[in-house]
Amino acid sequence: MNHEFLWGVATSSHQIEGGNVHNDWWAWELDGRIDGGVRSGQAADHWNRMREDLLLAKSLGLNTYRFSFEWSRFEPEEGAWSEQAVEWYSNLLSTCEELGLLPMATLHHFTTPKWLSERGGFASDESAPAFAAFTKRIAKAFGARIPLWCTINEPIVLMSGAYLGRFMPPGEHRPREASKCCYNLLRAHVLAYDILKKDITHRTGPFREHPLMVGFAHNFLVFKPERKTHLLERLLAKIFNSRYNNAWLKAVNGERQAFGVPGVFRSPKQLMSARGRRTFDFIGVNYYTKAYVQWRPRTQSKERDPNTPIGLSFARRKESASDLGWAIYPKGFGLVLESLRKYRSPIYVTENGIADSHDAKRADYLRLHIEKLANAVDSGLDIRGYYHWSLIDNFEWIKGFGPRFGLFSVNYVTFERSERPSANIYRTIVNHHAGRKPSRDVLSLTEA
Ligand code: BGC
Repeated sequence: MNHEFLWGVATSSHQIEGGNVHNDWWAWELDGRIDGGVRSGQAADHWNRMREDLLLAKSLGLNTYRFSFEWSRFEPEEGAWSEQAVEWYSNLLSTCEELGLLPMATLHHFTTPKWLSERGGFASDESAPAFAAFTKRIAKAFGARIPLWCTINEPIVLMSGAYLGRFMPPGEHRPREASKCCYNLLRAHVLAYDILKKDITHRTGPFREHPLMVGFAHNFLVFKPERKTHLLERLLAKIFNSRYNNAWLKAVNGERQAFGVPGVFRSPKQLMSARGRRTFDFIGVNYYTKAYVQWRPRTQSKERDPNTPIGLSFARRKESASDLGWAIYPKGFGLVLESLRKYRSPIYVTENGIADSHDAKRADYLRLHIEKLANAVDSGLDIRGYYHWSLIDNFEWIKGFGPRFGLFSVNYVTFERSERPSANIYRTIVNHHAGRKPSRDVLSLTEA
């Protein structure tokens, strides 16, 4: 059956809802680990403005919305189950149904309930069964209404930020835990994949005809050596490409699991339940930028472990970049999509966007990246949707509220939302295509 191309926006619970006091990030924030000692607090107050926000998405002409379930809302204590959370997310789904926004749900977007993080989070063997139990309950409560699922958002980023770099809780350099974390995230994913596929036996609501598809959202970076002539940096760029970009894909494709990086951390033992079969129905691509690999970088950032001689930078000095210093590199988007051809799998672009508080670069960023998407579609890749990150400004993890990714800005005092000019460009692009796949003329589109 032919389905519409999905044009949407993506968000995540902790970054917008506010008041998520039972997860590991909240605890970290209280510990003063965020830049400037900031806390997520009310975030964008989405908990109280969900309908208003989805109406903004609708106003862009979108036909899909990616959000995440906040595990710690449902299960603030182990084994507990919050009916209030069930009611709120059920309301969210009703609003999606009313507005014609096909929901894509993420089960884990960086935040872990505090009770589990206190026992070691995803470094602990308890994590995967706990996540499976959570998935089962979510599938029971909402499965019939949701066609698209991401089990885990950016597993490799989560593992690296938590146990190699220092940008996610617990933010300690512990290679043994990094290894265990890879194993448990894969196990959690595989268990959740099987549960969703087995337990969701009937479908209801306006999206019931859309095939049930389970995948993940994986972050891709195009790695380059900082110095082209530096042999070690060239080798490291290759290793990063194979481990950061490809190891997860190979693992969920049933191939040999090789997460480890020589001299940094060891690969965990093989998870046999993942071998010899594919545990995804689509590949979710989160693409933002490229990374230059540096051997013994001269500058130190608080996000890098001081004992690690490897660093990353995300743009050269004169390169056009986002407010976070991430190079604008649409070519890399095309390369990443092309690299997935061998999987012969449906693809959703689950995130793509830019931190740009003045909204000076977002419109071009959108056009240039969607043009690459159009090229990829023309070349025969089975791309089925594009989710811009993000609908509204939000809590950008360790960077706090500074980076502005929203098509709509948020005033963090009044929580008023205002449309940025680039939102209108996205609206024009979306309306121009009207549910069809992206076409190359996107570069010529200006405001309606
Ligand atoms: C994450 C989002 C984040 C975005 C911008 C992705 O890595 O999934 O949560 O806000 O990138 O940094």
